[in-house]
Amino acid sequence: MQTEPIYLDGQFTKALTSATLDVISPINQQVIGKVFDCNKQDINNAISAAKRALQYTNQTSLTSRIAMAKRFINYLKNNKAEIVRTITLELGSPISYTKSNQFEVYINELDHLLKLIDNFQFTHHETGYDLIKESVGVVACITPWNFPLGQITKKIIPALLMGNTIILKPSSQTPLVASWIAKAIHYAGFPRGSFNLITGKGSNIGKLLTSHPDINMITFTGSTEVGTQVASAAVSTMKRITMELGGKSASIILEGANLDIALQKTLDTIFLNSGQTCSALSRLLVPSSMKEEVEQAIIERTQYYIVGDPFSSDTKVGPVQSQSQFEKVKSYIELGVEEEATLLVGEIPNNLYIKPTVFTNVTNNMKIAREEIFGPVLSIISYETVDEAVEIANDSPYGLNGAVFGPNDLAHQVATQMKTGNIFINTADKPLNVPFGGYKYSGIGRENGLLGVEEFIEYKALIK
Ligand code: NAP
Repeated sequence: MQTEPIYLDGQFTKALTSATLDVISPINQQVIGKVFDCNKQDINNAISAAKRALQYTNQTSLTSRIAMAKRFINYLKNNKAEIVRTITLELGSPISYTKSNQFEVYINELDHLLKLIDNFQFTHHETGYDLIKESVGVVACITPWNFPLGQITKKIIPALLMGNTIILKPSSQTPLVASWIAKAIHYAGFPRGSFNLITGKGSNIGKLLTSHPDINMITFTGSTEVGTQVASAAVSTMKRITMELGGKSASIILEGANLDIALQKTLDTIFLNSGQTCSALSRLLVPSSMKEEVEQAIIERTQYYIVGDPFSSDTKVGPVQSQSQFEKVKSYIELGVEEEATLLVGEIPNNLYIKPTVFTNVTNNMKIAREEIFGPVLSIISYETVDEAVEIANDSPYGLNGAVFGPNDLAHQVATQMKTGNIFINTADKPLNVPFGGYKYSGIGRENGLLGVEEFIEYKALIK
């Protein structure tokens, strides 16, 4: 099996290291690819290429960058079937979900961004000064495995549009889709060195990126635990950072809510992608007057989340991404039982195909309610008053996402009190330009839309 090349200074090439990492499909534990486990010299070469390229990217106009981004998107669209297959193979997400939620959503967001950015102004005339927007410089993008395409495109396209240059380090769990991204960049004709792909274990090479003096910005998506290490290393050389981290988001059902909508929206976030979604609504807050009704409805609905082969069109839930992910989720399900929550749906799993699991009689001080499980595991917590529901929702180290279902005025009031970056009310769907990011331990900064673009800018006040 050939090892995937890295992409360095405008060329696909072998790394200097001979060390490689196997890419293992969670579907059947087969090795489906190999990538280089890059060494220090590989990383330094990528950083030098990105630094040199700043002189070219600074000379390109926004119009030409938009044209290159359009070609980039077209390449992805033209290779959709193969890219979707690659994601399903390395992640295990069911093919229909991969198409819609791992591919189309992100392509639509990019298409929309290119429309928004068309009139972007790099200079604003203010009284007494001009405010000039410049690129930050060399940006290291470190990405997770759970949305392997979208978590990369969300970073690299806004960064390139603003004239930055990139070192991408994708997750070593799902690195194959990053090769497609490199091919799309090559096809699009971005100046050589403006995008560089290196692969390898984050625990080995992460520190080289996060502490290197020639990297000006780190944009990281991943766990709060690793994000904290990355942020402290980056701050020691005063890099700009954005951190998109974990979540333990609450869905609040109010009396009078449309239960069908509330449960469909909540269960989709926590069961699809096997619950491996940062914004999953993993705590369901229910008025005690509705607890039994909600439990019964959940038992009935859960049977529609069919677990099985991700390439079968009936399958809604595939395997979790890896053996270590299986062990982590399994240990939380065991912990829930030890903590004396009631296992309403599901069982202690014995393989990667973990069934949707629901605990009820959960209290917000249990570990299963406080820690990010990152699997298809929902906790039902009951409450007496609306104030108590808000208090429980906000009593979390995280603050990424949330939802409120109920009479519109009350739902709106509750939503405004929740300390999270996004909150959905009733039937609302996510607009294409909506900023995404977290309060508290869920992160720093925002991605998507024009706010996401502004993260990749340095501001200069030219005082006249
Ligand atoms: P992770 O273990 O934190 O890894 C994220 C990335 O960091 C990977 O590329 C990893 O490389 C790399 N890395 C590991 N150790 C490093 C170090 N010491 N220095 C620098 N980089 C290092 O997270 P994950 O398991 O891939 O992803 C799941 C997490 O991401 C969840 O917590 C989820 O909530 C979060 N997430 C957040 C968002 C958001 O937008 N807020 C979106 C998606 C996911 P290796 O793969 O080689 O270890």
